[in-house]
Amino acid sequence: MAYLDPRPSHPYIPCAMAQSTDELKSLFAKTFSSDGRIHVIRAPGRVNIIGEHTDYNDGFVFPMAIEPEVRLVCRQRADSIVRVASSAYPGQMVEFSLDKQIERAEPTWGNYVRGVAAEMLKAGLPLAGMDALMTNTLPVGSGLSSSAAIEISMAVGLLVVGGLELEISRMALLCQRAEHEYALMPSGIMDQTIVSGGREGHAMLLDCRSLDKQFIPINPNDLRVVICNTMVKHELPTGDYATRLKECQEGVAVFAKDHPGVKALRDVSLRQLEEAKDKLPQLIYRRCRHVIGENHRCTETAKLLGRQEYEDVGKLMVQSHNSLRDDYQVSCAELDFLVAEAMNVKGVYGARMTGAGFGGCIVALTQPRAADALQAHLKKTYKAKFHIDPVAFVTTATAGASVLE
Ligand code: ADP
Ligand code: MG
Repeated sequence: MAYLDPRPSHPYIPCAMAQSTDELKSLFAKTFSSDGRIHVIRAPGRVNIIGEHTDYNDGFVFPMAIEPEVRLVCRQRADSIVRVASSAYPGQMVEFSLDKQIERAEPTWGNYVRGVAAEMLKAGLPLAGMDALMTNTLPVGSGLSSSAAIEISMAVGLLVVGGLELEISRMALLCQRAEHEYALMPSGIMDQTIVSGGREGHAMLLDCRSLDKQFIPINPNDLRVVICNTMVKHELPTGDYATRLKECQEGVAVFAKDHPGVKALRDVSLRQLEEAKDKLPQLIYRRCRHVIGENHRCTETAKLLGRQEYEDVGKLMVQSHNSLRDDYQVSCAELDFLVAEAMNVKGVYGARMTGAGFGGCIVALTQPRAADALQAHLKKTYKAKFHIDPVAFVTTATAGASVLE
């Protein structure tokens, strides 16, 4: 897989070469030492095909695990100290004791790993000390869920060195709580669920309320999944993630007055939305219209993909993008440009922004023969317009996290 980013400000090790296990072990030995039993864990990134900003509204999402990944090389320690280094943040060692209350601390990225250990201890798991080195081919903070990948790799590492077991959906919930409590990101359950529980060759329709999962095959003879990274991350001009959460809750409060069964936007139909239009502030109405419409588009997409009706899948992806741009207002010029250009390429079924927005990546579904042309077109046109080299790559749906050694 070609996945190279020359910018030093966007740190990750290019995929194919750097993730050989021997190389990782020698990097680990240089950081710590080479004795003892060393384990290697892989946690993939993810791309969400459709269902954006629905997860924290108890709705539906449709992600798949991807090839870019985090690897954690780790070894048990005789004491109760945990030390974690990351090749993405050279020279920063995160260190804490499992015997004391684990507090938030600098560097910021360390809070994800501190949080995971803290939540596992709270759940009663008798953790052992660990030395661990993280490496990544997954870009940091590009909407492909590097945060869940480091959390899940850390959780699996702690389980392996401690000789412990934990049910996979509980692991996802503990990691989500770590993200809430320690990284202070009030995110939904999608990322941790797909990163831990993805299935090779499949996308996962996840009901974020019941946590029911349905796996839909992505036939590689018919389809390619292309991801293109804008390489930008904007400050949020129209309020942040927490603001969107509050706006959704404001909508729920209005619906709940007339429909006591409504606990989340998931429970509201498009008809109920239209009936309540006059009672909702215009902005809240549009936020709600995105979430409610997106839930519908998400379950429809899973059905259509299962029936191999790719043209219709593509239309829903574009509708999703337009709704995120106009109603939810979480897109940006770079994402809009890439989506529009992608749709100009013959053989592309659909494209949309993926992840929380304001930068990060788009995802496109294409006919196999269109994938190369699409990447070349996006690279050329994006560079001409924004003077930035975007990173584009094709990926297949991979399995969730696993212990490689
Ligand atoms: P994403 O969409 O990639 O999950 P987030 O903003 O949720 O974006 O998470 C990105 C944050 O996760 C980074 O700012 C950093 O704190 C942490 N992170 C991600 N990848 C790594 C890594 N390889 N090593 C250390 N920290 C990482
Ligand atoms: Mg994240």
